[in-house]
Amino acid sequence: EKRNSHEPEFLQAVKEVAETLIPFILENKKYYGKNLLLRMVEPERLISFRVTWTDDDGEIRVNRGYRVQMNSAIGPYKGGLRFHPSVNASILKFLAFEQVFKNSLTTLPMGGGKGGSDFDPKGKSDREIMSFCQNFMSELQKHIGPNTDVPAGDIGVGAREIGYLFGMYKKLRTEFTGILTGKGIEYGGSLIRPEATGYGTVYFAASMLKLKNDSFKGKNVVISGSGNVAQYAAEKSIEFGAKVLTLSDSGGYIYDEDGIDTEKLNHVMYLKNEKRGRISEYLEKYPNAKYFKGERPWSVKCDIALPCATQNELNGEEAKTLINNGCMCVTEGANMPSTPEAVHEYQKAKILFAPGKASNAGGVATSGLEMSQNSLRLNWSREKVEERLKEIMQKIHDSCVEYGKNEDGSVDYIKGANIAGFVKVADAMLAQGVV
Ligand code: NDP
Repeated sequence: EKRNSHEPEFLQAVKEVAETLIPFILENKKYYGKNLLLRMVEPERLISFRVTWTDDDGEIRVNRGYRVQMNSAIGPYKGGLRFHPSVNASILKFLAFEQVFKNSLTTLPMGGGKGGSDFDPKGKSDREIMSFCQNFMSELQKHIGPNTDVPAGDIGVGAREIGYLFGMYKKLRTEFTGILTGKGIEYGGSLIRPEATGYGTVYFAASMLKLKNDSFKGKNVVISGSGNVAQYAAEKSIEFGAKVLTLSDSGGYIYDEDGIDTEKLNHVMYLKNEKRGRISEYLEKYPNAKYFKGERPWSVKCDIALPCATQNELNGEEAKTLINNGCMCVTEGANMPSTPEAVHEYQKAKILFAPGKASNAGGVATSGLEMSQNSLRLNWSREKVEERLKEIMQKIHDSCVEYGKNEDGSVDYIKGANIAGFVKVADAMLAQGVV
């Protein structure tokens, strides 16, 4: 704790894991006394580098780039790149640490990593984005490779940025390899990768509900965010017969009492992905909806909440409001969106709760499938990839149940995810010796 005292998000993520893992380690001789957790919280490597680029006014700009290579016990480092002004070592270490468990849960051979920059893509021209991506990759390329470390997208890094990053890697290395996932279909991407995190989150929530003989049908769903994860969580919720009431961005949230249906969602996709506008612009086309500036959507009455924007976006008070309004299931699409106080409220009220490292693993799982297709030099059909995604989410759900079952029959998905994710990595680390 002392060594990382200036890294609050990282400490928060480690504490949550330690709380459930330490009792498990104490009970299991195989893992006891090997300092496994101590080894797992120290990144194998943390690279920080200068990124210089020129803006449209000809001014030279400087940002800080990072790659955290957290753990490679079960495969090459794998995890997204985030471009957001809040990015720092603490946030990337928390994300990389969670990624180790998440990747292990997918059953695919992927270690954990994360990276990015404090570069703010908002309001930047296409040329500025390209210039930044190229300069970022000119350094990152020294540290990654198809058998070493395979980054992907995250906040602020979507298909456009992955394209520019891939192009620069190929130019510098003279090789066409599966160095990034989330690529365009024309150059090695996988069908269903854009949809995978949002769809996977909803599949996971559906499995949780099914254990209670319940489903999405007829439920009111509140979603935060309006980026990649939120859009496809909304799409699948609608397909499963639910009514999606809200979406948000860092400016505020929209509440559409009539439900955001497929047509309205397509408009959101246009607004966010093509026009690169704000969610408030939804009202220009659908004036019956309401916009709440500077607020988060958790006071809207719902059955299911899917936080899909960012870390610590749902606090203890907001969790209480959700529960008092009858919410029975919170499934995280984002990474660590619930604060520890919020998680405490869910547990006290005994509502269904899934932590992101289990429920949002569909994205990286499909990235794993993209890597397999690249290695085979094949493209699988939409149906095949979605079928695999569905299977993987069900398996992750079932391992959470296996390791997280309480005596009263209820399931602690946090404990389940932490222990199930840990076991595979720990076994590999033990087998590979003290390195
Ligand atoms: P996008 O950049 O596509 O969208 C992010 C959304 O969250 C935007 O609506 C954005 O609003 C909002 N947001 C970002 N930061 C803040 C903030 N500080 N306060 C309020 N709203 C904010 O990212 P993704 O959809 O890809 O990622 C969302 C979450 O899901 C992240 O936690 C990410 O780590 C996680 N995740 C993503 C995966 C993926 O495959 N993409 C895989 C697994 C997890 P605005 O436009 O105003 O910034």
